[in-house]
Amino acid sequence: MAAGKKRSKGKIEEVCCRKNSQLLMALLLPLVVVGGYFCPRLGFIVLGLITLFMVLASQRGRFYCGWLCPMGAFHERILSLVSLKRPIPSIFKSSWFRWLLFVAMMSLMALRLVDAGGDIKATGSVFRFMWIVSTSIAIGLGFYFKPRIWCAICPMGSMQGISSMNTYLLTVDDNCVQCKKCQKVCPISTYPGDYKPESGSAQIPSIECLRCSNCVANCPKKALSFWDRDRNS
Ligand code: SF4
Ligand code: SF4
Repeated sequence: MAAGKKRSKGKIEEVCCRKNSQLLMALLLPLVVVGGYFCPRLGFIVLGLITLFMVLASQRGRFYCGWLCPMGAFHERILSLVSLKRPIPSIFKSSWFRWLLFVAMMSLMALRLVDAGGDIKATGSVFRFMWIVSTSIAIGLGFYFKPRIWCAICPMGSMQGISSMNTYLLTVDDNCVQCKKCQKVCPISTYPGDYKPESGSAQIPSIECLRCSNCVANCPKKALSFWDRDRNS
C-alpha cells in the first residue's frame, strides 16, 4: 500500500487521492437529494452505486465505503467541519444493533418499491427517499458524535462487509505496541490493536473496516497492512 504524504506531527496522514475522490463523490448526495425533487429518475444513481459497490466488494471489501461512498464522503469532508466529534457509543459497535437497522431499512425499501408498482419515476423516488432517511439520521448522529458514525451501522456497508469476508482484510502483526493511534485516526473508531496476535499476524473482521488506510499510514510501528485471504490461500 502506498504511503500517505507526510504532514505535520499530530495531523492525520492520508493516502493520496482519497480526499479528492471523496470531494468529487460527495457532490452526488445533493444531486440526488435536491435534484431528485425535480427529476426523480436521479434516484437511479443510488441503484448504480449499489451495483458498483457490490462489484468492488468482491475485490476490495468495504473499499467503496472508505473511498467512494457519497454519504461517507459528505460526512467525513463536510459534516466534520461542524461535528462535535464525541466518541461513538458502544451500541453502534454491536452486531444486533447493526442487523436490526439492516432489517428495518431493507423492509422499508422493499415496501416502498412494492408500492411504486414498477413505475420508473416512483421507483427512482424510492431510492432518493432511502438516501434522505439515512442521510437525515446520519447527519443528526454525526453532528453530535464522530461524523462517520453512520458508517459503523450502515446497512449498505454491512452488506459489503458480509459479502467480502476474505478480501483485502486489514492485518495487524506482532510489531503492534497497542498505542491506540490507529483507533484515533479511524473514522469509525475501530481498534486494530485489539486483534494483535502473540506472534505472526491477525486480520480485522471485514465488516469493521472501511479500507480507508488512515491507520496504515499513521501506525508508528508499521504493524498494519492489507491482506487477501483468497489470494494467499
Ligand atoms: S497504531 Fe500501530 S502500533 Fe499503535 S495500536 Fe495501532 S496497530 Fe498497534
Ligand atoms: S481500521 Fe484502519 S483502514 Fe479500517 S476504517 Fe479504520 S482507519 Fe480505516
